[in-house]
Amino acid sequence: MASVAKARAARPPKTLIAGNWKMNGTRTDLSQVRALRKVSASATIDIAICPPATLLGAMRETVRGSKIALGGQDCHADTHGAHTGDISAEMIKSEGAKYVIVGHSERRSDHGEDNKVVAAKVVAAHRAGLIAIMCLGETLAERKKGDALKVIGQQLRGSLPTGVSSKNTVIAYEPVWAIGTGLTPTSQEIAQAHAHLRRALVRLCGADGEKIRILYGGSVKPDNAREILSLANVNGALVGGASLKAKDFGAIIKAGA
Ligand code: PEP
Repeated sequence: MASVAKARAARPPKTLIAGNWKMNGTRTDLSQVRALRKVSASATIDIAICPPATLLGAMRETVRGSKIALGGQDCHADTHGAHTGDISAEMIKSEGAKYVIVGHSERRSDHGEDNKVVAAKVVAAHRAGLIAIMCLGETLAERKKGDALKVIGQQLRGSLPTGVSSKNTVIAYEPVWAIGTGLTPTSQEIAQAHAHLRRALVRLCGADGEKIRILYGGSVKPDNAREILSLANVNGALVGGASLKAKDFGAIIKAGA
């Protein structure tokens, strides 16, 4: 653990804890966010909640005046048009959002989104003035084959367009096998993956690559958050299940603050 702990960098990127509600939540659940406002008031980190699109407007009112920012869970690459059921980055922005998740493994697998599609969505996010939270991660089969680093390196290069910077993009490393399963990689494995991504970001973006936040996602809970967030090159967390309850998400925020 000591060998992979955070180095005391002069100015590490500001921690971001982002909650991904996925296809969960109705207006009743906004009470959880009202409860979170108190916890977040003293936080010195960045906090975001990405609710389903149906709740963006109501969530905007719920987080108004707090430190909690709003995010979308996905966007179409186009600004508008004949795409039934989709929403554009501009629409998400107009609801007051700061972030949008793109390339989540559930989008990559359930909707067949490949790196090219994800890269177009990152472009759309930037065009709309949103910070893209671009997700990537290996499957269990890829990890077992020893290909995890190769796979995430390829996803990173393939899913990032030109113009990426620490101001407009966040990377989320989410091993597919750790999402919603209660399983997590070892600290060593997380640190190794994040170091690999950091080196790749520096190759792609120069010195600014050091400042691009790399979140860890996959079964982050109150009892493992502190250890995960203490690892080198882990600049925050993307939290699914545990972001739905104020008690759990609040504890994770406190672990990162
Ligand atoms: C996610 O959906 O991005 C995620 C990490 O989910 P969970 O925390 O539930 O594993």
